[in-house]
Amino acid sequence: MPSTLPLGDPVPADGGFPATVAQALPARAEAPFGLYVHIPFCSVRCGYCDFNTYTAEDLGPGASQVSYPDTLISELVFAREVLEKMGAPERPFSTVFFGGGTPTLLPPEELARILTRARELFGFRPDAEITTEANPDTITDATAQVLAEAGFTRLSLGMQSAVPHVLGTLDRTHDPANVERAVHAARAAGLQVSLDLISGTPGESLEDWRTSLEHAVALAPDHISAYSLIIEEGTAMASKIKRGVLPDIDPDDQADKYLLTDEVLGAAGLTWYEVSNFSTSVATRSEHNLNYWLDSDWWGAGPGAHSHMAGLRWWNVKHPAAYAQRLSSGATPGHGRELLADADKTLEHLMLRLRLADGLDVAGFNALPELRRSQGEKISRKSVQALVHDGLIEEGAAQPSNAHPQGRAVLTLRGRLLADAVTRRLAP
Ligand code: SF4
Repeated sequence: MPSTLPLGDPVPADGGFPATVAQALPARAEAPFGLYVHIPFCSVRCGYCDFNTYTAEDLGPGASQVSYPDTLISELVFAREVLEKMGAPERPFSTVFFGGGTPTLLPPEELARILTRARELFGFRPDAEITTEANPDTITDATAQVLAEAGFTRLSLGMQSAVPHVLGTLDRTHDPANVERAVHAARAAGLQVSLDLISGTPGESLEDWRTSLEHAVALAPDHISAYSLIIEEGTAMASKIKRGVLPDIDPDDQADKYLLTDEVLGAAGLTWYEVSNFSTSVATRSEHNLNYWLDSDWWGAGPGAHSHMAGLRWWNVKHPAAYAQRLSSGATPGHGRELLADADKTLEHLMLRLRLADGLDVAGFNALPELRRSQGEKISRKSVQALVHDGLIEEGAAQPSNAHPQGRAVLTLRGRLLADAVTRRLAP
């Protein structure tokens, strides 16, 4: 079952921004700008998933996969009009990410058509990173070629595991052998490759996880996202755990698997740049995700998609039928919105930067206008030193330098396991 949307203030029918947000846009013209395109369809709902996605069976009347690309394009047109009305400067996208759901359930020509329309409406920066998520079963040489010719630069494959019984518990239906085929097809088309893995599935042993990691690195991807499984309320897997059909998640097992992840990926030349994300170089990091973590602006198109512009967040209505109905009547698909409070912005800045290998610039944090306005406490040298002493923050990075006069807070390997606790200790 898809998760519920947050509460918030209503979005005006014309999608307009508060005056303070509109006034902030010209100064952000050169900053990164992302487009997220949500494709809310899956052939089967995986038992652990609470994403806003629908099988053909639970889609119901008023929406269809066939009409969806046109509906989505109508939101892109709407977005362009809103930004023009708000006086926003021309701002080509620096990153585009098609996620889901399973974007590659749509024919690649349809993904290409959506991308082409986005380019016509907004433009892309010359070095734009353009990714689509893909189910390994759906990628052939021909598909990858169509995607590359349309301008996609990167394929993110939902591998999850290389072990059949683990894939079975996750309800993943793809054939593990197809991951290799999909990687070769992507490479032949000149696309970068990222693999998504999930650790800690009930019943997965440490050796199972090692097998998945080793299979993944043998495919020589540019990037790996390795997330620990989180059991979301309301999912089929949560219900199985409650009923004792599956064992519960074990935090110690998750920690052991994280250490193994760092060891195996590190030995293969994939180093962490965010707690759960590893890349072969700076050039192969996911710029799109970095922009989320660095508080940049992005427009999220599609049902349930979230957007952020200059401190304003909003999210679209969730069901594809309601989404299509809003857009066909010329109204915003936005369901709710909020202007982030200074204290929330400060805490997010701390939490998200701490998760990055580049770490938190302490002087930059202490100088945040939002910290001053919310009368939050600055980070003291003493609190950083205490974390260094506890082995949670890197000693070298914490030293003051010309570039970072109060040092940086960079998590150690142990610190990465306890990132939330470190955030709490530094929180204003
Ligand atoms: S394929 Fe992905 S989005 Fe679709 S149900 Fe499974 S986990 Fe969720």
